[in-house]
Amino acid sequence: MANVANCKKCGALFLQTSNRIEVCDKCFEEQNKLLSEINTFVIMYPEEHIALEDILKKFNLTIDEFESFFSAGKFVKIAQKVTMKCAKCGKIVPIAGKTNMLCSACAKKLQNEI
Ligand SMILES: [Zn+2]
Ligand SMILES: [Zn+2]
Repeated sequence: MANVANCKKCGALFLQTSNRIEVCDKCFEEQNKLLSEINTFVIMYPEEHIALEDILKKFNLTIDEFESFFSAGKFVKIAQKVTMKCAKCGKIVPIAGKTNMLCSACAKKLQNEI
């Protein structure tokens, strides 16, 4: 059965499908376009690494938005190239394999603390 829901982004009513339950067609298209722009931008970036903040600034994204795309597996291709600053010690590390904004040393420490 088809379900009608409100788009999480723009609030418009849309028909849910099995693989799309959160956003409407229009926002889904826009999101895909943005994701492919980000991927292309990073892949074409002339230097070996690019800071996450530069991407956020360039595409007007918040860290939360980036993280939700990232954890949904949208940036697998570019994860080795994008670097972030560890929220704890400030070390610059690639975002590949990260689940939070911590370097592996700090993530480990945090795990031990819990
Ligand atoms: Zn929408
Ligand atoms: Zn750290």
